[in-house]
Amino acid sequence: MDLTFYDELANKSIVGEEIDDATCQKILANDHFELLPLVNAAYQVRKHFRGREVVIHIINNAQNGHCPEDCHYCAQAKSSQANIEEYGLKSDEEMVEEARQAYAKGAYRYCMVYAGRGASAQRIERLSGLIRKIKAEYPNHEICISTGLVTVQGAIELKSAGLDQLNHNLNTSEAFYPNICTTHTFADRINTLLAARSAGIHLCSGMIVGMGESHQDVIEVAKRLRSLKAESIPVNFLVPIEGNQLSVPQGLTPEFCLRVLCLFRFLNPPAEIRVGAGREGHLRSMEVLALYPASSLFLQGYLNTKGSSNARTLRMIKDAGFEIKSDVHLDDLLACQSEDIATAGFHEAKAVVKDLKDLRPALKV
Ligand code: SF4
Repeated sequence: MDLTFYDELANKSIVGEEIDDATCQKILANDHFELLPLVNAAYQVRKHFRGREVVIHIINNAQNGHCPEDCHYCAQAKSSQANIEEYGLKSDEEMVEEARQAYAKGAYRYCMVYAGRGASAQRIERLSGLIRKIKAEYPNHEICISTGLVTVQGAIELKSAGLDQLNHNLNTSEAFYPNICTTHTFADRINTLLAARSAGIHLCSGMIVGMGESHQDVIEVAKRLRSLKAESIPVNFLVPIEGNQLSVPQGLTPEFCLRVLCLFRFLNPPAEIRVGAGREGHLRSMEVLALYPASSLFLQGYLNTKGSSNARTLRMIKDAGFEIKSDVHLDDLLACQSEDIATAGFHEAKAVVKDLKDLRPALKV
């Protein structure tokens, strides 16, 4: 493919032109456009809108399990047999203290995630109080909440308490949705996003890739989020959690994951595209390349599964020459991680000399 093609793709995206479905299909297939020029084109778009910043999110699982819904990918669903630590709502004191810890670790946005179908009036009142407490201490830091379905009234109350962003993922396309959940609909999800938008709250909404959907489903989600002008888009790759209804990722290779991230960037050029859950396991040795289309990631793992160590993630950001969006400097964060870095075998660690078993594995003693 002529190199000017990739420049044209980047330019189209930057000026806001929607990429047609046929080109999107080719972006996702691995036999049309070469990966590295494609990643570079997505990086041109990222650089135009987001520079070299990386926005760090730290998720707080504020209430684990006991969910009456049956989202097939979720370890907290009533239908899941996954072995997780269940607990009810954390106290406000615990949540505020964990917000302090998250911001000290460089988080730009603190994401509080509550299991359940949706937020009752009582839940909205409690969350509003908690948001006010955190905002009183950290007026310049952002808060995101994920609390299932939310009404317009609920969204207005959360906004007036100081909520910056509401997370509610589309997860998959409208047509594929019945394959991943039967207790609520795609339309319910859209309505929650519209409620948040009408209240002036930024939207955080994304996808889980690898649940058996087609390439066209991926394209439709990216385009739907474009039409909703979602400010923040987590692109997750199905995490194989034993006991979940959907526990076997389908069609995910490191190259495909990168192509998906590029597609989301081309179709949602100004958005904070996040390489979400599953990045370590599915991108593997290609993980750092995700930072070229994506401009955000999670630190400290996901809702119920661990991710890579903070030291390794921060080192990856630093090594690739990116900066974090935080009032804490990346170098200072790295300096606090020396022990972790040493055990992870980074170059600051002392070299370990090979022993005879490493040097002469065939030697019979
Ligand atoms: S509503 Fe949320 S917590 Fe409940 S099963 Fe679905 S994703 Fe999991």
